[in-house]
Amino acid sequence: MVYEVKNNMLFTHSFEEVFPCGHSNNSPAMAQRIFQSRAEGSRIWDIDDNEYIDYTGALGPNILGHCHPKLTAGLKAYLDQKSVCTGASFLFSEDDVHLGRKIIKHVPCAEQVKLCVTGSEAVQQALRLARAYTQRPYYLKFGGHYHGWIDSIFGGEPNPEKDVKPFPVFDKRTNTKGKSPGSYAEGLMVPWGDLEKLKDTLESYGSDIAVMIMEPVCNGGTLLPVEGLLEEIRQLCNHYGVLLCFDEVITGFRTSLGGAQQTFGVVPDLCTLGKALGGGMPISAVAGRADILNQFRDAAVMGQGTFNGNPFCVKSALETISILEQDNGAAFSHMEHVQRELMIGLDRVARDKGIPMRVQGPTGVFATFFGADPDKPLQYSVDLETVDHQLMLKFHKSSLEKGVYTLFGRWFPSVVHTQKDTVQALEVFEDVLSGL
Ligand code: PMP
Repeated sequence: MVYEVKNNMLFTHSFEEVFPCGHSNNSPAMAQRIFQSRAEGSRIWDIDDNEYIDYTGALGPNILGHCHPKLTAGLKAYLDQKSVCTGASFLFSEDDVHLGRKIIKHVPCAEQVKLCVTGSEAVQQALRLARAYTQRPYYLKFGGHYHGWIDSIFGGEPNPEKDVKPFPVFDKRTNTKGKSPGSYAEGLMVPWGDLEKLKDTLESYGSDIAVMIMEPVCNGGTLLPVEGLLEEIRQLCNHYGVLLCFDEVITGFRTSLGGAQQTFGVVPDLCTLGKALGGGMPISAVAGRADILNQFRDAAVMGQGTFNGNPFCVKSALETISILEQDNGAAFSHMEHVQRELMIGLDRVARDKGIPMRVQGPTGVFATFFGADPDKPLQYSVDLETVDHQLMLKFHKSSLEKGVYTLFGRWFPSVVHTQKDTVQALEVFEDVLSGL
């Protein structure tokens, strides 16, 4: 295959004139834009007819790959019969009930559910619920954990000074102009993995902390929690009366049907879901204890939104979960198997080529960290200092040109990736590494 991007280049120019830096501008480094002509299964084709194995998973949602026949059939049948928008407050369908029941069945903490549209919104709803329930002002978050783009929780880094209230401080990497000046005082921030600092913070400010929010597998689902850490955090929350919220926007319906809370056996009070939940359509949720969610009942806690529970998105989520749960979760077992073979293969190739690289991640997402010791698990944000970001970028670009599409070394498998994809991806990987 000759990689050519003639039409892609043409459209990139026009696109940039209209849309400054794309629709989501968190990766300005992604200078190479792909304009798709079609997609099927694990593959996409661009308008220059280059074919790619797609491991980007659209950053998480595409757990079923592209154009999954059952999902497509379900959505087409829906479009033939029903309205795609019915009004979040007054007109529903039986799909709503079926979807809610499925979330409650699979997600351990879920006794009740609230639907929203994006992960960022679900996080905001969770914070509001927690503040209302505890009547405490702050949330607590960890360095290197992402919870959406909204001012109240976006960015900052832990304050290195001792004996100050640990509000996040300015951080160049996650800074944005235009952020509300008051937003840095809405929550406390602790370095991820610093248990002493966490305990000190809880001892000093615990009675003011409504909720501890965290990614159970942080750094976008790639740094697995150290054994016993989630359990210890759960106990600390119990002790200080702080609610625990797992942000499972990435891990939900990806690490397992019940998310990371099921995988690791630690049940939070609340969780947020998004991305894979909708199989590609925009739908998110807050789920958790009924006594907390019940605060929506008399609108004491407001949770409105025109597109909340949009019926077409609900249908997509319902079909997605139904496909994932078929035959006792056979799709997940398949994904797990294919992912494991791929991870083992990538590790072997890098070792053979003498390139330091660590491969790690739970089911449904993993990373190839170039520059890192292959035998040493990366656990905390500071461990990422060994990662060679230039090499990650070079790898991304070069593998893209050879038909393997990852996100700078982050891989999102789907239930339709095959052994054939693995063989081809490993051939490309070997080729790319020879040129690095
Ligand atoms: N939480 C986590 C853990 C996420 O990874 C993301 C998105 N990457 C969000 C929240 C925000 O979700 P959204 O982009 O749908 O607003």
